[in-house]
Parts: sequence; C-alpha cells; structure tokens
Amino acid sequence: MPELHIIDHPLITHKMTHMRKKQTSTGQFRALMHEVSLLLAYEVTRDFPLSIMPIETPLEPMKAKVLDGKKIVLVSILRAGDGILAGMLSILPSARVGHIGIYRDPRTLIAVEYYFKMPPHMNRREAIVVDPMLATGHSAIAAVERVKETSPLSLKFVCLLASRAGVEAFHEHHPDVPLYTTAVDDRLNEKGYILPGLGDAGDRLFGTR
Ligand code: URA
Repeated sequence: MPELHIIDHPLITHKMTHMRKKQTSTGQFRALMHEVSLLLAYEVTRDFPLSIMPIETPLEPMKAKVLDGKKIVLVSILRAGDGILAGMLSILPSARVGHIGIYRDPRTLIAVEYYFKMPPHMNRREAIVVDPMLATGHSAIAAVERVKETSPLSLKFVCLLASRAGVEAFHEHHPDVPLYTTAVDDRLNEKGYILPGLGDAGDRLFGTR
C-alpha cells in the first residue's frame, strides 16, 4: 500500500497559508520555506535508525543514542528543491547533498534531465528527495527513478504541496516510496500548475519573476 503522509500540524498549515498568499514577499516566502522544511525534516526522519555512542555526562558514563547524519543524503531537484534543502540542512547539518537538474518541457510537460550528481556510497545512505511542488508528478517520478538506480538504503520523497493527480501518478510509478506533503490540492491548470497552489515556487523563492 503506497504511503501518503500529510503533515498538517497547525504550525505548518499556518506557514503554508502565508506562502500561498500572493502578497508574500520573496524574502518572507524564502524564510517560510526554510521554516516549513525544517519542520518537515523532523517528521521525515522520525523512523531513522539511531546507533549507540558511549559518552560521559557530568555525573557518569552512559551509552547514548545518536543519529548518523552523514548517512542521510538530501537530494534536491533543481532549482526550487534548494529552498527545502536549505531548511533541512539547518537541522541536519551533516547530511550529504545530491542534485538533479530536471526541467519540464513546456509543450509536453515531460521531464528532461540535464544534471545529476550524488555523493559516493549511496547504498549506505538514507535518501530524501525534495521538490516543493508535486504537480503532474513527471519530474518527481523521473528523479526518484534515477535515485533508485543508486540503490540507497531507503528513499522518501518530500514536497510542500501536491496535486491529487500528482499523488496518483507518483504512487502508480513508485508505490514503494513514502510521500510526504503538507496538503493535497484538487486541480492543475493547463500549464501544469497546482490550483489553488502557491504559484511558481522557484520564481517566488528566487525573485525571478
Ligand atoms: N511548479 C511550481 O512551481 N508550481 C506549480 O504549481 C507547479 C509546478
């Protein structure tokens, strides 16, 4: 059964409402994406394995639990994925980073890859692929396909907003990959934008429009 995790904690939903508002400035949008991504990282890593490390408290030695941050690889789908990446790295500072460059052909909406760079030893890492908008699902499906070829220990996909069609397409292609989002919107327009959505995440993040 495909996993869909809708992370609708009030703090996240509140911040997403401000991200959706068209009046929100580039600076505010970027700060909100940072905060929401940090909060999503908390949920997405909930089941990650801990190892035992001997430490000394001021009173006595103990065997304590630690997360091996270096085992985590955050894979950003360029360019808007870098907004989520920045927020997640602020709470997972040792995580490794991969990048996938994919653009949507505006005529066909099909995903075309132009860049792919992952850290070594992916088969020893827990991979989290990030992209703010799961619209048609084409880019996410193609990116996850490519990351699967590197055989990571585990693989999850995180977005800020998904469309119903995007979720269905993603689940059809990758029923084994847990999908995390803050909300699922009903519709897509003819250009493949999520409605009501939040507009073009990359343009709003980088102020390119
Ligand atoms: N990409 C975006 O940035 N926004 C959408 O609504 C869909 C794809």
